[in-house]
Amino acid sequence: MIRHPHAHLAPAPSRTSGCGPIPSRLSQVSGAIVGPSKGGPFLRHDMSKEPELTKPTGLALLREPFAPNQISKLPKPSKAQTEQVRSDFKIGIRCKDCGAWHHPAVVHLDYVGHAALTDRLLDADPNWTWEPVATDDHGLPMTDADGGMWIRLTVCGMTRLGYGDAQGKAGPDATKERIGDALRNAAMRFGAALDLWHKGVLHEAEAVPKQLASDEQLAALQEYADAGVMTDGQKIWLEKARDKITADEASYALEKLKEKESK
Ligand SMILES: [Zn+2]
Repeated sequence: MIRHPHAHLAPAPSRTSGCGPIPSRLSQVSGAIVGPSKGGPFLRHDMSKEPELTKPTGLALLREPFAPNQISKLPKPSKAQTEQVRSDFKIGIRCKDCGAWHHPAVVHLDYVGHAALTDRLLDADPNWTWEPVATDDHGLPMTDADGGMWIRLTVCGMTRLGYGDAQGKAGPDATKERIGDALRNAAMRFGAALDLWHKGVLHEAEAVPKQLASDEQLAALQEYADAGVMTDGQKIWLEKARDKITADEASYALEKLKEKESK
């Protein structure tokens, strides 16, 4: 895509794009202000035809929170959790939140999926577009040394940068993931789903040191192991990961073992 060298001189987007200024009450009802009329206040216009002034459009719409059904759950297992499930898949569970098979104590991140974000961008500006910042000799988007891609996202004539990576995926899925991730990142610069980013959960796993299980918790787990309540896989987990089990993981495991024991 060739960028207009004088993009700032381009004509304002058409009204149908929803990108124009939010209409003021007076301009929308011009001519409706009249002198006193029978039984009426100063405004005689039909209230039912009054434009909805409270519903955001254009760039303001991007800042509107997403509905719960538009928010997806992404499991973010720690390295230790991934290794534990890899060593014995029976340690894992079929997750009710995300549908994946993973360690029972995995933290989930809220994120807005590609479809929900695209829907919102289209609502804000049907002419929204993105382009890679750099392309190779074939015109294909270029990635940087870390495998990430910078993009320009343009909504309502305003352009902001975004950066995305493949989130550990490989092959053709990596490219799609990189695009989706870059769009989320760029849209965040417009305020889209900012609340999800603001919670800091996206980096919590790395930033917040986990509290390790207490000696009491480990002792209680050991009792379940000795009493034969634990599966073999769980026993291996307790044995091998003893010094890495977090307090959250331990309390979750204890809860499940208690349930199992009472059956
Ligand atoms: Zn899950």
